[in-house]
Amino acid sequence: MNFCEGCNLAFQGERCPKCGRKKVRAVKEDDFCLVAQVDRIFGDNLKDYLEREKIECVLMPYGTGVKSQFALPLENYLLYVRYQNLDSVRQILKDANA
Ligand SMILES: [Zn+2]
Repeated sequence: MNFCEGCNLAFQGERCPKCGRKKVRAVKEDDFCLVAQVDRIFGDNLKDYLEREKIECVLMPYGTGVKSQFALPLENYLLYVRYQNLDSVRQILKDANA
């Protein structure tokens, strides 16, 4: 598994599927990797849940540019977790959407 430091993305192959960069390195267990884009309410609940499970996560506000002009409070988050937790968090998201 490789890792793009520009996108915080773990992926298989030589080239980052998001930005196309070829200067990538092998992913490390504690790299924060992008998991998904989630809405704000789901993201807040998920953060509480992950904290109880002792899984570190980072939520970055995303897509606020246009919406904030209209004073809409519901932006999305980009969810990042450490690579070692990536599979289990993906499974949690899958279960939540099922
Ligand atoms: Zn990239």
